[in-house]
Amino acid sequence: MHRAPHRQASTEKLAWLVLAGRIACFTMAKLIDGRAIAEKVYLELRREIAQLNAKSVRPGLAVVLVGDDPASRAYVRSKDKMCRELGLHSVKLELPASTIQAELLARVDELNRDPGIHGILVQSPPPEHIDESAIVRALDPRKDVDGFHPENVAKLVLEDPTGFVPCTPLGAQRLLLESGIEISGAHVVVLGRSMIVGKPMALLLMQKNKTGNATVTVVHSRSRDLAQVTRSADIIIAAIGRAEFVTADHVREGAAVIDVGINRVEDAASKRGYRLVGDVAFDEVSKKASAITPVPGGVGPMTIAMLMANTVKAAKQSL
Ligand code: NAP
Repeated sequence: MHRAPHRQASTEKLAWLVLAGRIACFTMAKLIDGRAIAEKVYLELRREIAQLNAKSVRPGLAVVLVGDDPASRAYVRSKDKMCRELGLHSVKLELPASTIQAELLARVDELNRDPGIHGILVQSPPPEHIDESAIVRALDPRKDVDGFHPENVAKLVLEDPTGFVPCTPLGAQRLLLESGIEISGAHVVVLGRSMIVGKPMALLLMQKNKTGNATVTVVHSRSRDLAQVTRSADIIIAAIGRAEFVTADHVREGAAVIDVGINRVEDAASKRGYRLVGDVAFDEVSKKASAITPVPGGVGPMTIAMLMANTVKAAKQSL
């Protein structure tokens, strides 16, 4: 007799737990799969490449690496591999760290004049004695598939579609579009103002066209009340290079979160002694967001896909 109410309470508690579990399941963010979306981009590119081949054009990409930074080497290898998989002409120019500026400029000039090369990328960062901005300015803007040449930066600001947009923000925008996340009219908060991610990201999403039209706020290391700003975002794009900086406290319930960050954190359990994490604390934020990119497997695969897309675009524009 005395135990019945208790049993009833337990049953009710159990029911609540099941319901809460279900709600938790429902409120888990949709995972934005960068690898799958990159594959879709490659499918489209294969069609475009076949059309170019029919006109006797084989898009060509040259990647120049100065020095032997292991991470840069790995990036260059994966770019070369992807070119080959797509049937692009790929040139991998590996120069010693002692290469002087004049020599590098001469190699860039050769590539500028090579009709078989439509895109040129000089892997960043070069050794300290190289003036990176002088190298970027020396590139033929029509072959600047990284989108760093001042002419391409101007074209992005002017909304001229013939320009090249840096691959990472272009990939992040594509993730939003492919995931059906409404950009137009949304409040997007971009964390970071670098020339490679933050600034072009903001410019892209504020463009007056159907893939833009967002209200964009950019925050950086000097921003006051950062969490208050990010909490008002419909879309958060984190590109600051700080491991798991964006916590649940920064995110409004139902916001979409794109994590550009790639950070190494020590991990004794891992064979390499470290693991990769983004700028977003995935576990807690994914319980609050409506959609989120993982790290790895989110923005990363899209960066290479967009490099390939820019190379194909350069080849098409060369006709
Ligand atoms: P960056 O050049 O170092 O710029 C970082 C930006 O974040 C700066 O604008 C900086 O502000 C801001 N910032 C730094 N700490 C902050 C803080 N505590 N609060 C607010 N803002 C802060 O970095 P990046 O090259 O843009 O790269 C950002 C991240 O994206 C890195 O993790 C990088 O590895 C990753 N990334 C990934 C890809 C990819 O393919 N997935 C490509 C490129 C970069 P200030 O301007 O005030 O200094």
